[in-house]
Amino acid sequence: MNKTNTQNSSSLVDPFGRKIEYVRLSVTDKCNLRCFYCMPKGFKDFEQPENWLTFDEIERVIKAFTELGVARVRLTGGEPLVRKNIAQLSQRLTTLPGLNDLSLSTNATLLDHQADDLKQAGISRINVSLDSLEPERFKKITGGELQPVLDGLMAAKEAGFTPIKINMVAMKGINDDEFEDMVKFCLQHDFTLRFIETMPMGATGEDATDHYLDLQTVKQQLANSFDLIPGVMPGGGPARYVQIKGTDLRIGFITPISQHFCESCNRVRLSTDGTLYLCLGQDDKVELRPLLRQGISNDKLKAVLIDAIALKPQKHEFKDKPQQVVRLMSMTGG
Ligand code: SAM
Ligand code: SF4
Repeated sequence: MNKTNTQNSSSLVDPFGRKIEYVRLSVTDKCNLRCFYCMPKGFKDFEQPENWLTFDEIERVIKAFTELGVARVRLTGGEPLVRKNIAQLSQRLTTLPGLNDLSLSTNATLLDHQADDLKQAGISRINVSLDSLEPERFKKITGGELQPVLDGLMAAKEAGFTPIKINMVAMKGINDDEFEDMVKFCLQHDFTLRFIETMPMGATGEDATDHYLDLQTVKQQLANSFDLIPGVMPGGGPARYVQIKGTDLRIGFITPISQHFCESCNRVRLSTDGTLYLCLGQDDKVELRPLLRQGISNDKLKAVLIDAIALKPQKHEFKDKPQQVVRLMSMTGG
């Protein structure tokens, strides 16, 4: 996919001079896992289906965004693959002029049977959450089984997705003895590996910050076993990369807490119910669903999006005010 956007490509610049070119699109707030740092055990307070944006509504909003310069969209959730016909939605989005990159974040439990269809629909890149390679530990963290995830990953590899990135939330006392094993797993399968710091994302029962690990510690731990050299990775995201000398393996570090990257934030998030969130860690938002259902014109919709970007806050305050956010990651679209 490499298309030129002939429309106005500089309309979405926020008050801090950041150009918004990336939308994270939550297609469902539901999930078939319950990672303890993301969703409380037994959580059932999901959005009602009549409030989900339909595929037509999603397409309208994303089209408006692309006409304002957005070139990249990531499907996320909740678990995006629990919503029916995601390949169909992907196909519709990839045909939009101006959209150069459609990617997917998934827990991979349902990827085994969908990988080929998603690849054919034009999804280029896949990120898979995987915090442990030990079945018992995986179950403790997520409440689910490891094997379907491994099957899904192999199906994605077979289908030809590249790169496939593994996202591992690094947690003290939970998986901090598994970093080397995960590096070896990624080396073996030609996956990219990214470590993520736990963020305080609403009340999930067990406070993820109890297990917070500064990723500098992880990097130092890895440097004892591997020869790490500074590396780069295209993508425009927040990860800082190193490479293991003599290999193609890149390891990224996503450090929203220890070194936040708000000054280069280029994204907004559209939730399942059509709320546009301007920051993962703040409450600034614009509700698009009522406008769509009242028959707003395309021009007015674009004007609403431009005005919304003016509300984008300068930064999250996860570190200074960890109790502030009352939203679950699965609601916002992680
Ligand atoms: N279900 C998909 C998945 O797990 O990849 C997509 C949605 S999930 C909310 C997106 C990412 O958010 C995952 O990589 C997950 O590890 C991360 N995440 C969720 N809660 C988090 C938290 N409290 N701190 C850091 N990362 C978190
Ligand atoms: Fe589900 Fe992803 Fe949240 Fe885990 S991190 S509960 S897989 S949405």
